[in-house]
Amino acid sequence: MKESNKIRLDHLGELAERGDLTLVGDEPMSRHTTLRLGGPADVWAEPHTVEGLVALLTGCAARSIAVTQVGAGTNLLVRDGGVRGVVVNLRRLNAVERFSDLGPSDGPSATVDAPGGSVRIDVQAGCSTGRLLAAARRWGLGGVEFLAGVPGSVGGGMVMNAGTYLGEFTDVTQSVRSVDRQGRLITRAHAECGFRYRASDLPSTEVVVDATLRLPRRDATAIDADVSQLRQHRRQREPTGVHNNGSTFKNPPGDYAGRLIESAGLKGLRRGGAVVSPVHANWLVVEPTHTPRARASDLLGLIDEVRHRVAETHGVELELEVKVIGESS
Ligand SMILES: Cc1cc2nc3c(=O)[nH]c(=O)nc-3n(C[C@H](O)[C@H](O)[C@H](O)COP(=O)(O)OP(=O)(O)OC[C@H]3O[C@@H](n4cnc5c(N)ncnc54)[C@H](O)[C@@H]3O)c2cc1C
Repeated sequence: MKESNKIRLDHLGELAERGDLTLVGDEPMSRHTTLRLGGPADVWAEPHTVEGLVALLTGCAARSIAVTQVGAGTNLLVRDGGVRGVVVNLRRLNAVERFSDLGPSDGPSATVDAPGGSVRIDVQAGCSTGRLLAAARRWGLGGVEFLAGVPGSVGGGMVMNAGTYLGEFTDVTQSVRSVDRQGRLITRAHAECGFRYRASDLPSTEVVVDATLRLPRRDATAIDADVSQLRQHRRQREPTGVHNNGSTFKNPPGDYAGRLIESAGLKGLRRGGAVVSPVHANWLVVEPTHTPRARASDLLGLIDEVRHRVAETHGVELELEVKVIGESS
């Protein structure tokens, strides 16, 4: 890494004096990713308010400092050289608020068809998916049962259109609000978000700050039944005791990445402490006890090899679901 490209806290000028911004220099990204891999962020930034976020983004733009947004780091693979510039995280912006009940014909609902009416929920990007699910259940609202066992933040979930066989964010989202690098707040209606399988058109140059959802009223017993069935389904299929991002690759149309990897004979394939899980072939995981400790380069090498061998065996190019950021060391 060229030292001259590295941003230090003192490059941020008056931003470092703000009471509504927590800034940390040289923060290991391995603390902020479920893979527990990756080099340091030059500056790790946690705004406490939307104003603090706006000031951070405009201040960085004025100084030509790169900004990368991350959520709970459950779908991130950070390279060993770390991330230059500022990494912004919204975990302190995590409110979830319920509005008064609305009838079925009150306002445009995204894709929720709720004969009993739906209820508006505003949720900030830093709210965890687990807290959103728990709040909805407490209020007698369904629609987000699909989040059972899906870790992460609402911001990351929106960008990824996270989901399971029970549904995905697109099904319940009415609008998404984000801030661009010039500090402008932009609201996008559902149709403008471009949600699709594990992706959206939400621009990578913007930070999602909050979203408005419409959730149908639902009995807590029915919610619990779906949630426990999904959790059980996951328990039977998911590796435990390893650091991971869940599925590494997207399923290609009409097939499963796991099936293709397994039938290419790649379960158990390893590079150092990175291994194709013998339990679920689409989970390329990191063994926490392996010596020497796995590096991001081990997992990236394994990803390349799996892609290559699946292409050779099946003629299918697997697309990464996991987002790779940062520099090689
Ligand atoms: C054990 C396990 C199981 C999983 N199971 C599932 C599953 O069943 N279904 C599924 O869909 N996913 C699953 N995942 C993947 C992951 O949970 C989702 O992709 C999740 O939505 C990522 O959210 P995050 O906050 O961790 O985002 P991150 O991993 O931090 O980031 C993901 C992407 O979102 C962007 N981003 C994050 N926050 C913001 C923001 N505020 N504004 C703009 N961009 C942002 C990042 O730049 C990055 O491109 C699983 C992961 C694990 C570890």
